[in-house]
Amino acid sequence: MRLILVGPPGAGKGTQAAELISRLQIQHLSTGDMLRAAVSQGTELGKQADGHMRSGGLVPDDLVIPIVIERIQQPDCQNGFILDGFPRTRPQAEALDTALQAAGVQLDAVLLIEVPDELIVERITGRRMDPVTKVIYHLKFNPPPAEVADRLEHRKDDTEQACRARLGKYHSETAPIIPFYESRGLLRRIDGVGTPQAITARAFEALGLT
Ligand code: AMP
Repeated sequence: MRLILVGPPGAGKGTQAAELISRLQIQHLSTGDMLRAAVSQGTELGKQADGHMRSGGLVPDDLVIPIVIERIQQPDCQNGFILDGFPRTRPQAEALDTALQAAGVQLDAVLLIEVPDELIVERITGRRMDPVTKVIYHLKFNPPPAEVADRLEHRKDDTEQACRARLGKYHSETAPIIPFYESRGLLRRIDGVGTPQAITARAFEALGLT
């Protein structure tokens, strides 16, 4: 299965991707994770991406597109993948389309997780990750156990200012890809408000996985 997850920052794309990959046994390709790895490894890509990411802007298309196109051609993606955080612009959607057509394969669905803006800032600013287990907690909605509390990390772009910038980019750059997929009959919309378990149930149902 070849899926795309779309939604504003903090919609729960990463959480739902984890549930979907364990059910479908396909690769999880998160451009945010790839870019954060490049930043922490200090690669040329990472150096160029860092400032854009910290401020809540988008990394330019000419840096992001090649890493995804190259990645989806690897043997471990032949059975399928979930793209999480890509495409985020119309040129990215078009580049993906061209690459999939050239490979003779098609997308199965685009899952849109909808969350109102007013919930996003609270979700994002309280988000913390355990660097050991990679589990994501929320200080209010999903508090971490005491034994991991001291080691939790706060993403550099999970500040209120960067969050508002990311939300702005979502509406101006990413939302325009929704009609692109809707017109092809690929779009599945789900309500992203509720417990992670409730949203997983909606996602599975929308994708015909129940
Ligand atoms: P995420 O983990 O998906 O929230 O992504 C974190 C940040 O990485 C974003 O705010 C962007 O700065 C950058 N990023 C991730 N994916 C993309 C993409 N497809 N295009 C441009 N920038 C991206």
